[in-house]
Amino acid sequence: MAHIIYADHAATTQLDTAALSAMMPYLTDLYGNPSAPYSAALAPKEALRQARQTIAACIGADADEIFFTGGGTESNNWAIKGTAFAGDFPAPIVTSAIEHHSVLAPCAALQRLGCSLTRLPATAEGIVTDTALEQHLPQGTKLVSVMLANNELGTVQPISSLAAIAHRHGALFHTDAVAAIGRMPLDVKALDVDLLSASAHKFGGPKGVGFLYIKRGTPIAPLLDGGAQENGLRAGTENVPAIVGMAAALQHRTTDIGAHRAHLSHLTAHFLEGLQAAGISFIRHGTEDTLPGLLSLAFPSIEAEALLHRLDLLGITVSAGAACNGTATTTSHVLQAIGLSEEEAASTIRVSFGYTNTKEDVSAFIAALQSILF
Ligand code: PMP
Repeated sequence: MAHIIYADHAATTQLDTAALSAMMPYLTDLYGNPSAPYSAALAPKEALRQARQTIAACIGADADEIFFTGGGTESNNWAIKGTAFAGDFPAPIVTSAIEHHSVLAPCAALQRLGCSLTRLPATAEGIVTDTALEQHLPQGTKLVSVMLANNELGTVQPISSLAAIAHRHGALFHTDAVAAIGRMPLDVKALDVDLLSASAHKFGGPKGVGFLYIKRGTPIAPLLDGGAQENGLRAGTENVPAIVGMAAALQHRTTDIGAHRAHLSHLTAHFLEGLQAAGISFIRHGTEDTLPGLLSLAFPSIEAEALLHRLDLLGITVSAGAACNGTATTTSHVLQAIGLSEEEAASTIRVSFGYTNTKEDVSAFIAALQSILF
């Protein structure tokens, strides 16, 4: 890509150089099928073992609790459908109104098959509270699924206390950690979750690969049948280079998470101060305590879509609503769920800084906004 100021890291990230180097041998010489019985399978098989171990260590899990998937969408679909199809069916499911479509759509698909579905409300600040779950937890609920951090607002949800409530009522707890992982420290035991979804391309890994953490003993049916891979639970020849890249990227992010968060917080503060100093009026959605580097901002004087394109012409990349929402003209369900009017939602952009952004990028961004808005 030509030099741009890329501020849409919540949509995807550039491949980490450490990940690329780790992947190269498996894209070239070490291409054997890891399930084969001969010696050309040994190196890919060992690479999978090590990647599983590395990822497990990064999130406080055991290696046999990590299952490789084709990304965040697959992990979410598997967690939701796989638990629904294991044991009694249909059973109630609880999720929230601010989830990603890859959670909402499988829940809706199960609702069409007879499962009762509850979507918990969020507060005006974008938080799904313990009270909301206590008040809307039907008898016999099998799964509660609430995301760790929201991808449009950056708001971090009170997962360990929500999980405790779910467990007290005999339900399993799943969290979509796709937006959070790599931007905050993460430990599955501290979160007390049974299932956790992640996607590599959000933290410097390649696209089309992710993992699902499944706590040992959690009843779950396969989503994909047809092979013995992933302990018989996820059929299909493993994408060895991508899995190796994902592990390298996650290790990199996890090792320097403190410095990464400090860098992102610094850029956020510089950006907000710059907006104020330039006299640009804006409204920030969500809480103060969001994921570092992720801001949901309304500029009331301009439509977000127009602003996105004007910034794009100046070489600055941001998002209007969530990128995977498809057409930018549909109002974001997340912004609706926190009570914004259509007009307020239509003037909201998401800025998500990342690893590669600098203070100079932020200053250039402010200057571009000034040139567009004044
Ligand atoms: N969940 C969240 C919160 C996301 O932001 C995304 C990606 N936009 C996904 C799930 C889907 O992940 P993937 O792109 O790997 O399918």
